Amino acid sequence: MAETTLTAPPVKRIPKPTKPFIPDLVYFEPDALEYPKGQKIMEFVKARNIEYRMTTSHNRITNLPGETEQEKYRMAKRTLVVGLRKTLKFDQSKPSADYAIPISTGCMGHCHYCYLQTTLGSKPYIRVYVNTEDILGAAKGYIDEKTPEITTFEAACTSDPVGIEHITGTLQELITFMAGQEHGRLRFVTKFHHVGPLLNLNHNGHTRIRFSVNADYVIRQFEPATSRFEERIEAASKIAHAGYPLGFIIAPIIWYDGWEEGYAELLKRLSDSLPPEATKDLSFEMIQHRFTKTAKNVIQQRYPKTKLEMDIEKRKQKWGRWGQYKYVYPDEQQTALRQFITERIFDHFPEARIDYFT
Ligand code: SF4
Repeated sequence: MAETTLTAPPVKRIPKPTKPFIPDLVYFEPDALEYPKGQKIMEFVKARNIEYRMTTSHNRITNLPGETEQEKYRMAKRTLVVGLRKTLKFDQSKPSADYAIPISTGCMGHCHYCYLQTTLGSKPYIRVYVNTEDILGAAKGYIDEKTPEITTFEAACTSDPVGIEHITGTLQELITFMAGQEHGRLRFVTKFHHVGPLLNLNHNGHTRIRFSVNADYVIRQFEPATSRFEERIEAASKIAHAGYPLGFIIAPIIWYDGWEEGYAELLKRLSDSLPPEATKDLSFEMIQHRFTKTAKNVIQQRYPKTKLEMDIEKRKQKWGRWGQYKYVYPDEQQTALRQFITERIFDHFPEARIDYFT
């Protein structure tokens, strides 16, 4: 009788969970320590033996460690600055909401295409503001001004607030505040899955939490230091289960060899993974990739090996509201992307709503 050789089944590698962000260095404005949130962050820092320094202003951090510009940039992305928000005039936040509610600025993620690289200029470190009551007071003013119309606030215009929630707790305060506002609504988007502290809050359906998702190729190539796709989807299910209105932002939509398979697969994976309760009242937003000449230069310096395609010759020029041309896809490509992804969304989620394609 012939001997049978037993071969072990292939071992499936389970990737490690993405850990919550812990800064390497923290700066405090002295005034911040007079607020409970400032004190709480100081306790967090001391309990972990994180190096900290005092600074006169959260806008003037000049002595970050690092020999080269790239090293300084990497260090800045691991530096937290704790201060007070002085400007309480909110910026507009179209098309996602009426106003940007300023709770933090900067992000620990390393998405190659991220617009914060240019909008934050030489201040890529992460700033968090501890005077939340002042910020909520200003939000209340905006709500009252527009009542009985609804006023919406976007909390993720200049950062990814979920990525630092375990340090600040600010989203919990915002969600709870907005639950009591008949005419106020909150929304934010994230690429992080650390949503645990948000799950048991009384949100009253007034906060829409959206997850930023993309084709596997885009996530792997261009979104280092963020949570994996599966982690984001698992977090989305938890958020839906907790009764929050849920949404997805597909951004940036990128034209690459195989984009049709990539985006078809994305929608299929979403539909396979989401529990039925997550598919009710589901919103989608779609943003095609765009860049300015300034952004292209910065990206090439900071991520010199990036495969991000930024050939101006292949793009359509569009006047941007920041007083610079931005480069989007030519109309034909835009239409193909929009139509293809829209069809896939409605194939899998017939009850979903598409807020915009831009
Ligand atoms: S997670 Fe968002 S805010 Fe952070 S680097 Fe990536 S795109 Fe920018």
